[in-house]
Amino acid sequence: MIIEIIPCLSDNYSYLIHEKETDTTSIVDPSEFTVCDEIINKYKKLDFILNTHHHADHVGANIALKKKYNSKILGFNSDKDRIPGIDILLEENQKQKIGNLEFEVIFIPGHTKGHIAFFFKKEKIAFTGDTLFSLGCGRVFEGTHEEMFHSLNKIKNLPLDTKIYCGHEYTNSNLNFCLKYDPTNTYLKDKKSDIEKKLNSNQPTIPSTLAEEIKTNIFLRCDDSEIKQGLGLKDSSDVEVFSKLRELKDSF
Ligand code: ZN
Ligand code: FE
Repeated sequence: MIIEIIPCLSDNYSYLIHEKETDTTSIVDPSEFTVCDEIINKYKKLDFILNTHHHADHVGANIALKKKYNSKILGFNSDKDRIPGIDILLEENQKQKIGNLEFEVIFIPGHTKGHIAFFFKKEKIAFTGDTLFSLGCGRVFEGTHEEMFHSLNKIKNLPLDTKIYCGHEYTNSNLNFCLKYDPTNTYLKDKKSDIEKKLNSNQPTIPSTLAEEIKTNIFLRCDDSEIKQGLGLKDSSDVEVFSKLRELKDSF
């Protein structure tokens, strides 16, 4: 499985997936046609388009790519009227093949009502769209904070060595938020120099691993007593802590 990271728009990532044996090419969340097409050109074909959710910065090139390559578009069934050009309707926990690769559909509502992640179990790779970012999580637009918290916990339960490919390069601003509310976390300090190095040399900070995220991403650490204490929420539940952090991040 070859993954090419394609920076799109101002801070989006689309991901091209190539599987050699059956020469199958797929793309996750194509934001814009020209940039994606340049990379697809190397492989001469595009069999599948996978959408994590319906937002324009994730489906923007669906129709133009489908037109050019006659690709099949895969998205969550409840978003059949919102994902342009959708062909294959996916269901929660469904296993789906693209060439010899197989992924599982993880239903993770909150950012939108129909948001999903693509989990390639064998390769230990997850495409998490705008739900789990490196050091952050997406805004809660269509669901509730409880739903988002539950969705993040689903991702948190994947194998620790799962590589996380998310929808945006928000890592640096997320880092500053984590540092503010989790100031004694030593892993976070190590991560800071790593992130700065990558960004200074124009490299993506993606992928990270789930293990790293659990140690550093404050939205996966709502059960941490020091974080709770720092927020003045010593006796609050994990989901209440999540809700507070999400509110603080909305205006950060
Ligand atoms: Zn979005
Ligand atoms: Fe987005």
